[in-house]
Amino acid sequence: MRIAVGGFLHESHSFAPLPTGWADFLAPGGWPPVQRPAGLVAGLRDTAVPAAGAIRALEAAGAAIAPLSWGFANPAGPVTAEAFERLAALILADLQAAMEAGPLDGLYLDLHGAMVADGFPDAEGELLRRARAILGPDVPIAASLDPHCNLTAAMVRHADALAPFRTYPHVDMRDAGARAVALLLRRIALGRPFAKAFRQLDYLIPITSQCTLVPPMADAMAARAALASRMEVAELALCFGFPYADFADCGCAVAAFAEDAGRAEAAADAMVQDLKAREPAFAQPILPAGEGVAKALTLAANAARPVVLADTQDNPGGGGHGDTTGLLAELMRQGAEGAVLALINDEASAAACHAAGEGAQVQLTLGGRSDGAPLAVTARVLRVTDGRFVCTGPMAKGNFADLGPTALVSPQPGIRVIVTSRKMQAYDQALFRHVGIEPAAQRILALKSSVHFRADFQPIASAVLVVAAPGPVVADPAALPFRHLRPGLRLRPGDNRRT
Ligand SMILES: [Zn+2]
Repeated sequence: MRIAVGGFLHESHSFAPLPTGWADFLAPGGWPPVQRPAGLVAGLRDTAVPAAGAIRALEAAGAAIAPLSWGFANPAGPVTAEAFERLAALILADLQAAMEAGPLDGLYLDLHGAMVADGFPDAEGELLRRARAILGPDVPIAASLDPHCNLTAAMVRHADALAPFRTYPHVDMRDAGARAVALLLRRIALGRPFAKAFRQLDYLIPITSQCTLVPPMADAMAARAALASRMEVAELALCFGFPYADFADCGCAVAAFAEDAGRAEAAADAMVQDLKAREPAFAQPILPAGEGVAKALTLAANAARPVVLADTQDNPGGGGHGDTTGLLAELMRQGAEGAVLALINDEASAAACHAAGEGAQVQLTLGGRSDGAPLAVTARVLRVTDGRFVCTGPMAKGNFADLGPTALVSPQPGIRVIVTSRKMQAYDQALFRHVGIEPAAQRILALKSSVHFRADFQPIASAVLVVAAPGPVVADPAALPFRHLRPGLRLRPGDNRRT
C-alpha cells in the first residue's frame, strides 16, 4: 500500500485588508512553513496539523508514504494567483513524480476548505479537480477539512471522502487527519466509490455562534454523531462555513458518504433538518467594546481568576491583521488595572522597542496599519524577545511559533501589550509565558481571537466576554458588501432578507 500525502491550507476573507502571497506560506507565524517532499514527514509528524495525524495513521497501517509538498498561510485576504499556482504546481508535480516512481493506491490531502484564490473562488475544488485529472477516476482521494470550510459540490465530486474536524476550538485536527486516512483505506478496501450526498444550508452561521463547547453547536454536533451512527454512514461531514468568503458556495454545508445512496441522502437530509430547527439559537448578541471593558472591570474586581475579553472582530485566525487598537484604547480610557493584551502585530513598533532596549521609554504609533487607526502612545519597554516559542495548549501543542522581534510594553500603568512582528491568533498561553507573564495570575486578558482561545484560556478564566471593537472579522456577516453569494442565501440566522 502506497499513499501520497500533501496539503494546501488557507482560510480566505474576501474583505480582509491584505491579500495572501507566497511569502505568507513561507513564514506563517505559529504554523510550519512550506514543506517539500524530502522533509514532509519529519517536518510535520510532531506538529498539531491534520497531516500529522494522517502520517501517524498511515505508519500504523503499515502503508508507505509518498510525500508531496504542503503549505499553510494564516487567514487573510484571498490567495494571490502567484501563490496559488506556485504551491498547486509543486503539489501536482510531486504527485506526478510519485506516480512515475511506482503505483499509488491513494492520495490524502490536508486542506482547509475555505480558500479563495485569485481566479478560483472555489480553490480547493480546483485543486482536487487537477489532482483527479492526473490520478484518473480509479485512485481514491480523501482530504481532511477545517469545519470552517465552505464546502462545494466540486470538492465533494472530485474527492472520495472528506473528513472535517468535529471541534471549534479545533482540538482534533490530528484526529481528522487520521479519520480521513481511515476513510481512504475503507474506500480502497471497498473497491468502488462511496455514494455521496451534498446539501447547503440557506443561512450563514456567525463564527461566534459556531463554538462546539456550548449550545447550539454542541447540540448540533451531538445530533450529527447520533445520525451518523443510526444511519450507518461512513462519514457525515458537518461544515459550519466561513461567512466572509464572497462566492456562491459560502456558508454551512453537509456531505454524507456511505456504501449506498439511500443512506447518504437520508443522513444529509436529516442533518439539514436538524440545523434548520436550531436556526433561532444561532442568533447571539455581542457586546460593544466599551460595554465589554466596563463589565470586565466590574467582574475582575471580585474575581480570583482572569476575566477574558475576546477581540473577535480583529481575530488573526479569521483574516484580521491583529493590529487594531479599539479594545486597547477602551482599556486605557477606562483605566484598566492588571490587564494584558495579546497582541498587536506591528513590525515597526516592535523594531522601535528593540532599538530602544528594555527599560526605555518609546513614542509609538502603535498598530492600526491595516485600518489607518493607530494609537499614539508613550510606552515603557518591559521586555524584548525573538518571538520564538513552542505552543503548549490543547490546540497547537508542539507547534513552533516564530513571531519575529517581539516586545512587551506598558502604554499606561496597569496595562501591558505584547507587540509582535507577525500575526498569530491568541489561542495559546505560551504566547504570554514567552514574555515572562503567567496568564492565570492576571486580572484581565484581552485576546485577538473569536473562539479558539477557549481551548487554552477558558479553564483559567473566571468569565469570558466576546466583544466587538472595529475590525474586519465582523460578528454580523450581514454588514459585509457581498456581491457573489448564491441567490436565496440569508446573511444571518433568524433574518428573512435574502441575497
Ligand atoms: Zn477553523
